[in-house]
Amino acid sequence: MNCLEQKILTDGIVKEGNVLKVDSFLNHQMDIELFNEMGKEWKRRFEGKDINKILTIEASGIGIACIVAQHFGVPVVFAKKAKSINLEGEMYTAEVESFTHKNKNKVIVAKKFLNEDDRVLIIDDFLANGCALQGLIQIVQAAGASIEGIGIAIEKGFQAGGRIIRNFGFQLESLAIVEDMNWETGEIKFREQ
Ligand code: 5GP
Repeated sequence: MNCLEQKILTDGIVKEGNVLKVDSFLNHQMDIELFNEMGKEWKRRFEGKDINKILTIEASGIGIACIVAQHFGVPVVFAKKAKSINLEGEMYTAEVESFTHKNKNKVIVAKKFLNEDDRVLIIDDFLANGCALQGLIQIVQAAGASIEGIGIAIEKGFQAGGRIIRNFGFQLESLAIVEDMNWETGEIKFREQ
C-alpha cells in the first residue's frame, strides 16, 4: 500500500452518493509532504517522457500540480472556470460538467500558454466520470500539443472515467484506485496495482 492509499484509509471519509471526502489532506487543507511523495512517484512512472508543461484545472488540482511540477522542473498552467462570456479567439475553451457540484462550467486556457510545441502532463485530484479530464484533453488537442501522460491522485474505479480515458490510449497513472467504498460502514477497497 502506498502513502496516499494509507492516508485515504486513515483520514478519508466516505459520503453518500459516491463521494470520498479528503479535504483534510488533499483538496482543502493540503499535506505537502504527501504531495511531494506523489510527485516522486509520478516522476518514476513517467520516466523517459519528455514533459515540458503540467496542465491542471482549478481549484483542487492546482496545489498538487505545483508541488509535482518541482519534480519535473516545468511550469504549471491551470484551466480556469470561466463565466459564460464569449472568450473565444484568445482562449481554448471546453465545457466540463462537475461531478461534485452537478453544474456545467466553461473552462478556458489562454492560447499564449499552450501551443503545438508543448508536451503535456495532465494532473488532477480525482477521476470519477472523466468529464474534467475530457475537457482538459480537448484543450490540449485544440492547441495541437501532445499529451505525454495523465496523473490522477484518486481514481474511483467503479465509475466510468478510468475506462474511457484508458480506451483513448493515454498513459493514465492513478496513485490510488478505489475499487469499492461503502458510506454506511466507511469501508474502502483499493485495486491492486
Ligand atoms: P469527473 O469529471 O471525473 O466526473 O470528476 C472529477 C472532478 O470532480 C475532480 O476534479 C474533483 O474535483 C471532483 N470529484 C469527483 N469525485 C469526487 C469525490 O469523490 N470527492 C471529491 N472530493 N471530489 C470529487
